[in-house]
Amino acid sequence: MFGNSHTLFRPPAEADSLIIRVADGCPWNGCTFCGMYKGIPYKFQGLEKTERDFSNAWKKYPAASRIFLADGDVMHLSFQTLETMLIALNEKFSRLARVSVYANGNSILAKTDDELRRLKELKLHTLYMGLESGDSETLRAVNKRESAEEMIEAGQRAQAAGLRMSVMVLIGLAGKERSLEHARATAIVLNKMQPRLLSALRLVTTPNTPLYKNGFKMVTEYDAVAELREMIQGLELEQTVFRADHSSNIVPLEGRFPKDKERLLAQLDALLNSGQLDRNSPGRLPWSL
Ligand code: SF4
Repeated sequence: MFGNSHTLFRPPAEADSLIIRVADGCPWNGCTFCGMYKGIPYKFQGLEKTERDFSNAWKKYPAASRIFLADGDVMHLSFQTLETMLIALNEKFSRLARVSVYANGNSILAKTDDELRRLKELKLHTLYMGLESGDSETLRAVNKRESAEEMIEAGQRAQAAGLRMSVMVLIGLAGKERSLEHARATAIVLNKMQPRLLSALRLVTTPNTPLYKNGFKMVTEYDAVAELREMIQGLELEQTVFRADHSSNIVPLEGRFPKDKERLLAQLDALLNSGQLDRNSPGRLPWSL
């Protein structure tokens, strides 16, 4: 149905899950820093084809316990469609433990609390949401659809229904001028949301994005680390697994909040004081993102 028009996207944490693509694209597709689905309209392949794909996947992997429904923002589908898909997965996969999806804030907010609880009962487990920034000015500048307040509400409502929020933030998204405001406001929003999983990625602009075409200047290597430090300094998380180990990051970091906060800060301080960080350019960039 979707052919091989682009690489299939999935969160690194879902590497061991059975991946089944049921939809494609992002219903918003308007963030100026994002090139994931440029030129690809949002499409759902329909329930008939989806149920056939579930049967084919079950024939190959009948013991699968973790499933990731790809691609972008499967949570955008109607409650009835999500419920039908989850019932079908529960019927087929006898060892099913969890189903996870990408979810834009708006797609979570479009579901009622009862609907979210019902999806949780049917083993919907982790919602991967891009917060990107908690700074309203930055979100507006990059044309993110949701406001910070809407994403806090989405995260809080999903977690109150028993779903697990995995939230991504983008270091460097505000450029040099608003770097520290972006870091501080992002920490405040995360503290209100209390996601169970948090990933920090560094923004690396790619040529197919409006941000790149408009000449956005990436922050230097030093400033990216200083920004991450500022964000971590502001985090008061009660039970969150933190990762900054994506290839875009300057150094891989991981830990659990609250217990590892001081260690993470010490690691970043050592790096900032090492004299090894490039203060004039973003430094070495990953070959692929
Ligand atoms: S960042 Fe997320 S919401 Fe924004 S265009 Fe990309 S996939 Fe869509």
